[in-house]
Amino acid sequence: MAILVYVENIEGKFKKSAFEVVSYAKAIAQEQSTSVTALSIGNVADEELNKLAAFGASKIVKVDQEQLKQFINKAYAAVIAEAASKEQAHIIVLSNSFSGKGLAPRLAAKLEAGLADGAMELPTFSGNDLQVKKTAFSNKAFATEVITADKKVIAVNPNSHEPVRSEETPVIETLSPSVDAGDLNLVVKDIVRATDKISLPEAEIVVSAGRGMKGPENWAMIEELAEVLGAATACSKPVSDAGWRPHSEHVGQTGIVVSPNLYIAIGISGAIQHLAGVSSSKTIVVINKDPEAPFFKVADYGIVGDALEIVPKLTAAIQAHKAN
Ligand SMILES: Cc1cc2nc3c(=O)[nH]c(=O)nc-3n(C[C@H](O)[C@H](O)[C@H](O)COP(=O)(O)OP(=O)(O)OC[C@H]3O[C@@H](n4cnc5c(N)ncnc54)[C@H](O)[C@@H]3O)c2cc1C
Repeated sequence: MAILVYVENIEGKFKKSAFEVVSYAKAIAQEQSTSVTALSIGNVADEELNKLAAFGASKIVKVDQEQLKQFINKAYAAVIAEAASKEQAHIIVLSNSFSGKGLAPRLAAKLEAGLADGAMELPTFSGNDLQVKKTAFSNKAFATEVITADKKVIAVNPNSHEPVRSEETPVIETLSPSVDAGDLNLVVKDIVRATDKISLPEAEIVVSAGRGMKGPENWAMIEELAEVLGAATACSKPVSDAGWRPHSEHVGQTGIVVSPNLYIAIGISGAIQHLAGVSSSKTIVVINKDPEAPFFKVADYGIVGDALEIVPKLTAAIQAHKAN
């Protein structure tokens, strides 16, 4: 009986969330006196796979089949379910990432397992039951769920559990699952990255701006600040609706959900639909000329003033600090 963790990679390299979920599973494994098996799907070199052992995976199962090269929800859920049965895993942990959000409920249904998605803390156990605190209603509330089913699927919010090192000597095994043709219901022919910029859902720092920037001609200062911080750029919905920025940058209830370590909101009011996509950020800094702007209520730090004056000064100050 082990804990199975599904770990995601991008072009053969593990995301930070992979180490987070392995580390999360290791903490549960220690509590339950069991071990962690990590499942990787895709073309990942053994050297990369071995990195999972540093965070507590004692066994690594790799699936490297041409037809599973790109993410296909139905097929991946079937493979994870097959690996879970083979490993006799009673707890399956994955990231509540873009793909994890689709995988977790499908996987739970397949395994007839209880599901806690959006987990933000380690669970507590009472006998066979597991209790987990999670986000609810688009991050506007918290809920505590108790899973009573024998099998349990936990999808952990990115950035909610720091990877903790816990060295293991890993065993790497290959699994060749029998993939049902009906599960391969999507053919990904090619993935073309829009830019070489930092990916927004993965970013540790996000510099985001709204209608307070007045127009697209003022976005150079947002990009400069993002560049000096090594951040991704984002925006509010009306900004992308107006065509000032691409829709891929719009965050919120109807856009991308982010949970970086630092979210800097510039000239954004803080409407509830925007907050739904950003409120699980660790630290929120707000720059707004209106001291009554709702965003200040959730801010850790705030600057009241004209963004067009403040942002260049902030960029210059960070540049000066980095030069020292
Ligand atoms: C169903 C639905 C879904 C939605 N989904 C989303 C979503 O996913 N994401 C999203 O963002 N919105 C979403 N919205 C829209 C949301 O309700 C708000 O309208 C939107 O977030 C406001 O964007 P904003 O803050 O950029 O603009 P505004 O509301 O116009 O606010 C601009 C802010 O900039 C400040 N400002 C102005 N000038 C300056 C200056 N010079 N310096 C500093 N500050 C300045 C103002 O004080 C103000 O607070 C949704 C709405 C609906 C109805």
